[in-house]
Amino acid sequence: MPADVYRALTGDPVTARDMLVAQQRLAWQALVAPLWRRMRGLLDADITARSRQLADGGLERLFADLHPRATWRNDELHLTGFRRGAVDLRSRGLVLVPTVFGWPNLGIGPTDDSSVTVPVLVYPMLDAAQLWEPATQPPAIVRLLGAGRASVLAETLIPSTIGSLAQRVGLAPATVSQHLAVLRDAGLVTARRRGREVLYYQTPLAATLAGRASRRSTCLPCGGHRERRTVVRCGSMGISHHGRTERLDLADPSLREWTCRVLHVDPDRGIVLDRSAFYPGGGGQPPDHGVLLWQGVQTRIVGTHKGDDLYLVPAESDPVPPVGIEVRGAVEDDRRTMLMRTHSGLHVLCGVVFRDFDALVTGGNMEPGEARMDFNLPQVPVGFKTLLEDAVNKELATDRRVSVRVLPREEALAIPDIVRTQTNLIPQDEQEVRIVDIEGLDVQADGGTHVASIGQVGRVQVVKVESKGRQNRRVRIRLSS
Ligand SMILES: [Zn+2]
Repeated sequence: MPADVYRALTGDPVTARDMLVAQQRLAWQALVAPLWRRMRGLLDADITARSRQLADGGLERLFADLHPRATWRNDELHLTGFRRGAVDLRSRGLVLVPTVFGWPNLGIGPTDDSSVTVPVLVYPMLDAAQLWEPATQPPAIVRLLGAGRASVLAETLIPSTIGSLAQRVGLAPATVSQHLAVLRDAGLVTARRRGREVLYYQTPLAATLAGRASRRSTCLPCGGHRERRTVVRCGSMGISHHGRTERLDLADPSLREWTCRVLHVDPDRGIVLDRSAFYPGGGGQPPDHGVLLWQGVQTRIVGTHKGDDLYLVPAESDPVPPVGIEVRGAVEDDRRTMLMRTHSGLHVLCGVVFRDFDALVTGGNMEPGEARMDFNLPQVPVGFKTLLEDAVNKELATDRRVSVRVLPREEALAIPDIVRTQTNLIPQDEQEVRIVDIEGLDVQADGGTHVASIGQVGRVQVVKVESKGRQNRRVRIRLSS
């Protein structure tokens, strides 16, 4: 270890520990969390498949394809490439652990005979490549079976339980069970019992069908407008969820359509979904409008009600979907895209006013394409309106990237000027903070939706600068189309 790193770690162990923990947490959020459900599903599938091998053909069968460096013969497990000699497993046993990471390596430990810990053999899980390439069906099969049923069928390539399938395809277990019943009746999936579990897997007919269909279907190079399922997951309800609703808008502000389920309907407050991309309103950005589509019926969504749950307010006199039903959600694209441009434009305004005029924000509000922001600016410089408009548009032309990340509270508050408003608006009990960073210009704690780079804002016109009180100046902007 380099001497300076050693000194840093041992000089102030508490700080070093906290820093390492924070870094590890960031790594988890960035690298693992978005894929965790899928990883879990594939690990389950691996364990299921291995158990089946063990039941069918004993240890010989189990180790036949576990790893090229592991073979079972004469009641001994032979591992090549290890120089530890022999380990007596009698009375201790061996735990087999599939891993998503470390392919193509094999690991074992502890190999010390005196160790009381049960030795663990860590091996790469089956079908690790599926982690990156979700099981898909040819478009013809999707049209024949519907998207949900087709994805269930695709995932049964690996023998799986209903729970594991539900995790991997992102549907409720009850829905998966219904799809499986239909697929079994059609002879595409078969089931077998293993202990208390029932495993479902594809029949040869399913494989033949997929093979035929893929030869005949036309190629859809991009897979259509496929929904992304990456979610900011960080333990804090406020950042990935509101009540029971998973906030898809926070993870992917470009998402406009998705499938979800109605969890609850309150006659006064509105509809609660399990997953929603409707921005609920907040931080000056108004709530989204859109529709829910179900069984040929449309429910217009005109607002939100934020309580213990996130309620979507239906248009008066529109029919409301029943609880438990699967619906297609859609956010009105024009309005949301305009709000994202407007919101990001305000951040640029805020960053420029702070950088060039040293003034902090005291308030603000926006509508699609129009916004106002108040600054604490006792002395208004000569030519302020024109100077500001030019500086903002010059910034927009640089097309800086807008990045979003989630940080532990202490780390977020340590960023200089993190909160450009005069009062610190981050709630005391919020352990994690979502940061919106226009790199090099403006960094803020922010729960809103933003464009990916500021070039997408377009041009901004400073419409008016008004005095609101002795120190307060109100800047009104409009987006040029
Ligand atoms: Zn904002």
